[in-house]
Amino acid sequence: MAGAKAAVFREKLTGYLRAQLSRLEAAHGRDSAEYRALALQYAKSPLEDRHAGRGERERHYESEVHIHYDGKPLRGVERLYRRTILIEPTTVCAAHCRWCLRGQYPLFSLSEDDIVRAARYCGSAPVRDDLREILITGGDPLMVPQRLEFIFTQLRAHAPNILIYRIGTRVPVQDPERVSKDLLGILRAAAPAKIEIGTQVNHPSELTPEARQAYAALYEVAFKIYDQTVLLKGVNDSVDVLSRLYDDFRYMGIEAHYLFHCIPMKGMAHHRTSVRRGLELMQDLTSSGAFSGRAKPMYTVMTDIGKVSLYHGVILERNEDDEVLLQTRYRVEDFKRRNPSWKAPASAQPDKDGTLRVWYPDGADDGPAEAAHEKR
Ligand code: SF4
Repeated sequence: MAGAKAAVFREKLTGYLRAQLSRLEAAHGRDSAEYRALALQYAKSPLEDRHAGRGERERHYESEVHIHYDGKPLRGVERLYRRTILIEPTTVCAAHCRWCLRGQYPLFSLSEDDIVRAARYCGSAPVRDDLREILITGGDPLMVPQRLEFIFTQLRAHAPNILIYRIGTRVPVQDPERVSKDLLGILRAAAPAKIEIGTQVNHPSELTPEARQAYAALYEVAFKIYDQTVLLKGVNDSVDVLSRLYDDFRYMGIEAHYLFHCIPMKGMAHHRTSVRRGLELMQDLTSSGAFSGRAKPMYTVMTDIGKVSLYHGVILERNEDDEVLLQTRYRVEDFKRRNPSWKAPASAQPDKDGTLRVWYPDGADDGPAEAAHEKR
């Protein structure tokens, strides 16, 4: 997203999250893994002022991805991939997850005119030949249900080629009461397009009875709910926690999608494991038979040019700045075709076959998770 700024990302929790923290503290104590799994996600830490420097990012990727339509830039719209476009109606969230790059972005909301233009672009030639999905994210779109309803109306009118409306949200684990009858009515009215909910749960203790009820209600209107867990030091960087989490997803009907390596965001190094630690965990998770094979995630990093899942042969080398060079299958001409203003970031270069290799800053490989965190 353009317009990133170095902002103060204030601490923000919902009443529901504060009540959960009190409950976990009373049940298990402040030093318990259960309490810390939630506190580390939302409590502002003095460690955020200590910048690791090398390679830290202010945006979730560094590519230039501005889109123009009818001679003017489209606000809050990005496109990296063939089938999917992204729109951000708001940057407001129910709570602030400390490692999230939204903390670096200025607050904004899209106007109705912005949304109409975005919908017209999605349905215009030749874009409509490729585009099939829209990811509505932010911020949290469930914080602005009326805006969401307006987006659906405009997409139905101008872009019938969009078959799936994906909505990125953490509301079910941050403020489950927001999943109300009114909200479900709005989501139901998206038909004939299908609603898909992309959520993020990082620890099994977040799956309270209230959160489970919210996901069950969303399943009344969604054809799929999938999860993108972030690998967080001291929260879920253990086989036991991740096994329990993916086991729970399986029986709640939540599809495991990505296990994301925590992004190299400025001031958030203390939340990041090394890439190697994630690979070790994935090996244990995917080759142990501890939970259903239908619940295995893809271990993925968000690079400056897009997501790269880590398989054999993807990591090519490591430099003295502790960046790893990743072999992708992205090609400059594909990016340019989808978005003529796309420019390769400094971290990416084409190889001899024209596919891009990209440098990705690793997290520290510094032993026990707790060592990197201050207790509150
Ligand atoms: S709710 Fe989502 S967008 Fe908002 S701060 Fe958390 S991870 Fe980021």
